[in-house]
Amino acid sequence: STRTFAALPKPYTSPDIECTDIFINNEWVKSASGKTFKTFNPATGEVITEIAEGDKADVDKAVAAAKEAFKFNGCWRTMDAPKRGLLLQKLADLMERDKVYLASLETLDNGKPFAHAYFGDVAGSIATLRYYAGWADKNHGKVLPMSGNYIAYTRHEPVGVCGQIIPWNFPLLMWSWKIGPAIAMGNTVIMKPAEQTPLTALYCCKLIKEAGFPPGVVNLVPGFGPTAGAAIASHPEVDKVAFTGSTEVGKLIHQMASASNLKRVTLELGGKSPLVVLDDSPVDFAVEEAHTALFFNQGQICSAGSRTFVQESIYDEFVEKSGQRALKRIVGNPFDSNVEQGPQIDEDQLTKIESLVESGKKQGATLVTGGSRLGDRGYFMQPTVFADVKDDMQIAKEEIFGPVQTLIKFKDLDELIERANNTEYGLAAGIFSTNIDKVNYLIQGLRAGSVWVNCYNVFDCPSPFGGYKASGHGREMGEYGLQAYTEVKSVVVKVPAKNS
Ligand code: ADP
Repeated sequence: STRTFAALPKPYTSPDIECTDIFINNEWVKSASGKTFKTFNPATGEVITEIAEGDKADVDKAVAAAKEAFKFNGCWRTMDAPKRGLLLQKLADLMERDKVYLASLETLDNGKPFAHAYFGDVAGSIATLRYYAGWADKNHGKVLPMSGNYIAYTRHEPVGVCGQIIPWNFPLLMWSWKIGPAIAMGNTVIMKPAEQTPLTALYCCKLIKEAGFPPGVVNLVPGFGPTAGAAIASHPEVDKVAFTGSTEVGKLIHQMASASNLKRVTLELGGKSPLVVLDDSPVDFAVEEAHTALFFNQGQICSAGSRTFVQESIYDEFVEKSGQRALKRIVGNPFDSNVEQGPQIDEDQLTKIESLVESGKKQGATLVTGGSRLGDRGYFMQPTVFADVKDDMQIAKEEIFGPVQTLIKFKDLDELIERANNTEYGLAAGIFSTNIDKVNYLIQGLRAGSVWVNCYNVFDCPSPFGGYKASGHGREMGEYGLQAYTEVKSVVVKVPAKNS
């Protein structure tokens, strides 16, 4: 959430764009095909700039560079672990230096309010790199009590060349969540940013070079999913692929990874997360928290509290207050400091949201407020609230990824647990209650990778994030996040004699 106690600097509303090419071996190169694609400002629909469009040939080059950088006896493999941490700290220092520029670039390319980009995305990215810098020399193996005349131990080794495919909703934060643990553990990286939002990742590659990373350790190939993305996921010389995005594409990534070389796979996918409000919860507080849980980042967050379950005795009051709150939500130019909600990312997403809103109306949900596109410039959507939502409606089942809140009534806890879990997803859940026994009962019953109690969407570096069921594989962040970037080697050495 936005920290209002620190002063918000003035953004650059038309920042210079320096980096638009492919980044391989610490050099900027054009695409092999010579093609480019446009990135747009979602607040206006205008073209910001043209970006080199990478495809298979460029991915091949980047993978070769990452492989060379990972070479046995090369400078990256022989570098002391604390030095890797120091490089991440230097990178974080440079991002700190350029934080107003980075936040401005993020707002321009993604449309999120500048205050959120500055206090949330950029600050969170810097914190992530510093957190993983600290782990560089702390993820170590164990000595094992083998029977017989042996000494045995485990080595925690890097996985190798890591392909990383990231989405458009948190472009810089996802860049950092992926780079941090991969680099700390000594891997090399080839990343593809989302085609909608390549700018901050590109700029940070300039900082990679400035920080002094050896060439080929971090490579970035902007381009589209079915071309550049698929080339990474199916590449025979990529050792691991990490993906954040839709469940639909996550399944494809998994297939490509298996069909090519059984590379390791971690996936952070969609959600339809229940946020449960019990009747003992202070209503005004829960209304505000549930509002932010859904509307934060224009509703474009995989962990959004997108099924708001409210206990029946407070349901009507909750509906009325949620509608009033949504009506007051300030939508507009994301560079304005009072704006709470910017545009959706693009026309496709807006159209998808509108069609789900139509389905909600058709299937009998009550439209409390909103429901339409706002204006004819950019991709703005009215904050929308539906009440009387039933579990089998499309709006209660599918990920909307937009500013549409669905309020669902429930009676008792056991019924609630069953209904909340009746989804293919299992990313997150929220519980609002002051009754400790009920809270603990729900914590155990809800099948989700994160459970927030009397708060929501609270992220920090030490706490792992990831999904049960079709919401993903593996965990990112925290100590658990190191596992995805570590191979464990079991070493057994014969010795002449052994004593306890
Ligand atoms: P969204 O639907 O929210 O845009 P996607 O899952 O389509 O999310 O996109 C997330 C990331 O996956 C983006 O970088 C996108 O380019 C990439 N991507 C999309 N389709 C594929 C694909 N078939 N193979 C590999 N990557 C893909």
